[in-house]
Amino acid sequence: NVEMLYDKDVQTNYLADKTIAFIGYGAQGHAQANNLRDSGYNVIIGIRPGKSFDNAKIDGFDVYPVAEAAKKADWIQMLTPDEVMADVYKKEVADNLEPGNILGFSHGFNIHYKEIVPPANVDVVMMAPKGPGNLCRRTYKEGFGVPALYATYQDYSGHAEDLSKEFAKGNGAARAGLLETTFKEETEEDLFGEQNVLMGGVTALIETGFEVLTEAGYSPQLAYFEVEHEMKLICDLIYEGGFNKMYADCSNTSEYGSYVVGPKVIGKESKQAMKDALKRIQNGEFAREFMDDYRAGFPELYKLRERSANSQLSQVGAELRSHMPFVKDADKYSTPAE
Ligand code: NDP
Ligand code: MG
Ligand code: MG
Repeated sequence: NVEMLYDKDVQTNYLADKTIAFIGYGAQGHAQANNLRDSGYNVIIGIRPGKSFDNAKIDGFDVYPVAEAAKKADWIQMLTPDEVMADVYKKEVADNLEPGNILGFSHGFNIHYKEIVPPANVDVVMMAPKGPGNLCRRTYKEGFGVPALYATYQDYSGHAEDLSKEFAKGNGAARAGLLETTFKEETEEDLFGEQNVLMGGVTALIETGFEVLTEAGYSPQLAYFEVEHEMKLICDLIYEGGFNKMYADCSNTSEYGSYVVGPKVIGKESKQAMKDALKRIQNGEFAREFMDDYRAGFPELYKLRERSANSQLSQVGAELRSHMPFVKDADKYSTPAE
């Protein structure tokens, strides 16, 4: 059991006179930079020319090339995509670190797998929100926040942990709750969750259900509604009140079928596959495979992305959603510019 911390538990003030540079202004960079600025901190942005650069300007930040922002800042928060982070760090950040600076992350990947090896004279910390960037920003503006993990990998200053907690509080995360973790734990759990359950597991489940129905002659439209559209409605109930609420709101027929059939579908074989996936995360094989694909120009990622985007399920879904404007509401939070 780990202790949850809330706003009142974070009372130190080491962050107040620091300049915080966000390297990257995408999903997380946009959310964290705006939240910390609204909380009264001194925020600058380090980014290459392009869409994010323009968005940061529109939002009224002082925007610099990465190297210059890293030089000006005390806290350098690394929020580029994980695969490019080590290149950006080596080329533009490493030489601009000064003793006592803070190198911050929102995912432990690069530190844990030693893609980035920081010098000994800086703090290395993490603040990882447990939610997508647009939700972090929206909930902050609503006076709330999404919970976050914080971790210390290297404590040079002697108060690295307090700094990461203040950073999380500035993001609004301590209103929802802060949980301590380690870079290793956060990295391995995050990769496991997205591969096996949240994204990999769910999409494979939907896709397979869709295939079984359509191959048996059921209409693709009906199959889409049954196995994909309804997924959100079920997930909302689970989110609100766990399995109990979901079962209470559904029919006895569906509840009985769920108990009896679910474990046959996700049975021993799936559990073994999850264990194998966890082992490949723990021994670094997955990270190596992913970084090798990146360094080769992402041939595998792009091939799989195209296959997914062009599947019958994707096409049927896109057509049906075009007649349901109400399901698109969530999109209004997905543009980085305020
Ligand atoms: P995004 O892809 O949304 O944004 C990446 C940003 O980095 C963009 O502003 C992009 O700018 C910029 N960028 C890309 N390449 C370079 C480069 N070579 N030099 C400088 N800037 C560059 O990333 P996320 O916000 O999703 O992820 C950032 C970190 O946060 C990752 O470590 C991720 O694991 C973590 N995280 C993300 C969550 C999320 O909500 N998505 C949740 C929790 C953690 P451009 O417009 O020019 O491409
Ligand atoms: Mg992740
Ligand atoms: Mg049904």
